[in-house]
Amino acid sequence: MKIKSIQSFVLSDKLKQSFYFSQWEYSERRICIVKVTSDTGHVGWGEGYGPASIIKAGIEHLTPFVVGQDPLQTETIWSTMYRRSLDFARSGVLVSAMSAIDVALWDLKGKILEQPVYLLLGGKKRDTITPYATGMYFTEGGKLSQVLSVEAKQYADFGYRAMKMKVGLGIEEDIENVKTIRDAIGPDIHLMMDANHAYNLREAVQLAKAVEPYNIYWFEEPISPEYYDQYAELRTKTTIPIAGGECEYLRFGFQKLLSSKSVDIVQPDICASGGLTEAKRIAVLASVYGVEIVPHTWGTGIAIATAAHFIANMDTMPGRLKSPTCFMEYDRTENSLREELTSTDMVFCNGEMKITDAPGLGFELDEEALHKYAINDLNGQLAQPH
Ligand SMILES: [Mg+2]
Repeated sequence: MKIKSIQSFVLSDKLKQSFYFSQWEYSERRICIVKVTSDTGHVGWGEGYGPASIIKAGIEHLTPFVVGQDPLQTETIWSTMYRRSLDFARSGVLVSAMSAIDVALWDLKGKILEQPVYLLLGGKKRDTITPYATGMYFTEGGKLSQVLSVEAKQYADFGYRAMKMKVGLGIEEDIENVKTIRDAIGPDIHLMMDANHAYNLREAVQLAKAVEPYNIYWFEEPISPEYYDQYAELRTKTTIPIAGGECEYLRFGFQKLLSSKSVDIVQPDICASGGLTEAKRIAVLASVYGVEIVPHTWGTGIAIATAAHFIANMDTMPGRLKSPTCFMEYDRTENSLREELTSTDMVFCNGEMKITDAPGLGFELDEEALHKYAINDLNGQLAQPH
């Protein structure tokens, strides 16, 4: 059995209403996905997190080393891709390109063997996972704290037990937004906040101390990811758990984050940090340091299904009879690609999502939606955006 072809697609969706966070504005969702086909006619889909056109170029660079290989040998292929990348890119978008291919290979392997990916990863440790709503980005139009609290209330009414808001606008405005949202959702729902590394250590300490009374479940990326020691110092100065890791790559990047005691919760993006093959290794590493994992997840249903299977398989440390809640990031901002490209029976219901037993990653990809949103033709050539 051999891998016959690899095709990658840059998908674009212009948003009806743009939104922004502490770093920049989103007016478009642009995502690179990859299709790997075997000579048996089976198809696997993967996705890379990061700048889509560069990831596509990375996939094209890696393609000759993957085509012709046995699709069941995911780890062997990973090693080949890594050897062809590490001289130039031990982190960054070439690792995201590897990740996209690796995810597609796990989906493909599952389709060929007619088994769900969680089983191929070693088994299911839980039947359901708990999606948390990521939203509450900044928008124009109306008083922001009121707009955000209406959105938060909608998530609560819909059954989410946890949700994540953006901070990083400035300390005073952040405090007002946190307070207003907490008032809107009541005391029982977990509330996380994400600064996307907007602050220096002094500011991060100031904000963390100010919002401690509002029961923040974690403070994500308070500081720029380069400052490992400052993360560690921040942890000693607040009772709020500190989260981070969406800017790290491979187990080697995570070793730095973990050994410096920078975070309470580590957040690898499986579609960027090395795929499912490397995510398993990162999880082992995190368990050695006794640090909890909640993957960063952003993109289409491919990325969501990937995270779901990984979390279903993930060990929680320490073990105990009553398992802790295993959260999955579940972006709720406008994204037609996420809504239209894939369909699955893994749907949000009563605060939880049941893991599918369907083969591979357990979704069907709608090729009509692929045609609708792809800005390259199906041979992989970039065309004009529509
Ligand atoms: Mg984040």
